[in-house]
Amino acid sequence: MGTSSDHRELTPVSTDPEWENWKWQIQNRIRDEEGLSRHLELTSDERESLKKCEELFSFSVTPYYLGLADPKNDDCPIRLQVVPRKEEWIPRIWDRPDPLAEESYMPVKGVTHRYPDRALWYLSHVCAVYCRFCTRKRKVSQSSQTPDGEDWKQALEYFKSRPEIREVILSGGDPLNLSDSKLDFLLSELKRIPHINQVRIHTRYPVTLPMRITPEFCAVLRRHFPVFIVTHFNHPKELTDFSREKIRMLVQDGSATVLNQSVLLKGINDSVETLVELFYGLTSAGIKPYYLHHCDEVYGSAHFRVPISKGVELMKSIRGRISGLCVPLYVVDLTGGGGKVPLPAEYLEEEKSSSYVFRNYRGDLYEIGY
Ligand SMILES: *Cc1c(COP(=O)(O)O)cnc(C)c1O
Ligand code: SF4
Repeated sequence: MGTSSDHRELTPVSTDPEWENWKWQIQNRIRDEEGLSRHLELTSDERESLKKCEELFSFSVTPYYLGLADPKNDDCPIRLQVVPRKEEWIPRIWDRPDPLAEESYMPVKGVTHRYPDRALWYLSHVCAVYCRFCTRKRKVSQSSQTPDGEDWKQALEYFKSRPEIREVILSGGDPLNLSDSKLDFLLSELKRIPHINQVRIHTRYPVTLPMRITPEFCAVLRRHFPVFIVTHFNHPKELTDFSREKIRMLVQDGSATVLNQSVLLKGINDSVETLVELFYGLTSAGIKPYYLHHCDEVYGSAHFRVPISKGVELMKSIRGRISGLCVPLYVVDLTGGGGKVPLPAEYLEEEKSSSYVFRNYRGDLYEIGY
């Protein structure tokens, strides 16, 4: 994998002694043009878009994550994920507020139950960093939407009353906004339900706010073994030494299994080189690449979308070239609430009466019997 220059060092946005305190990072988020222009040389497109997007989807970034952005280059993969651009506020015909129809599969507030055996539970609608391509931008960033104690009770009752639910996925917003004691309580309640086989946490904080991973949080996870954590790295630049240390802590002290889902994003990670570096980087950090998502059709995200045919070609170039352990499954979550479907590359060239003809990753043909 990459040379040392691939592990670019942080450009600290602050040298405050509280830098490693996650609450300090949240309190000191950069939330407007003025704050941002102190760290980045903003283009006129970015300045105008920050204003125009105010009503569409909040802007916010932690000092930590902003420190990864290139102050001079507006095509920087970190910058593209957090700073709005003109394409975001120009309406497009396919734009939807809720592409996955999550609100229509909602039996109780804060729970999307689409697949029979697993349910998504939104515990927070706030994130430290708002990703411009967020599929839940209709409600994420609006703290008034955050479920309260009464909603929690109803959700727990629902899980208890549905024996077909084998897994609950804590999601958001970012569920790690909750305090350790609240997470401890919720994990205890879930693990007490006999038909629940596993609990998963979807969080981007290992990427955007790695200081949230503390020894205290790991102690909570350990008490509820096993817990699966699915995080969201999109670019190798995000795998800093600091976040790698925190992942190590999660795996070792939290006994958590850590997986990653990425979104395939135009101009950010849509090349074989970047994806290979990302997938090797994740594996070397102790993370198993799980999914690579086609970008959902949420409003303001068309400029990030990579044609599926190109995505399939990228995955085809990767499969066989790098270890299967490093390769995620490329999927599209169907607009309208159809769920996720895999996007496999076609390797079967021909089915004959008594044999199959395959093309392997090098492009060579192989014929095998029935
Ligand atoms: C993605 C998703 C899940 C989890 O799906 P897996 O394929 O098990 O990772 C569960 N519920 C909903 C509504 C989802 O969108
Ligand atoms: S971390 Fe997830 S929920 Fe939060 S803004 Fe980014 S994509 Fe949306």
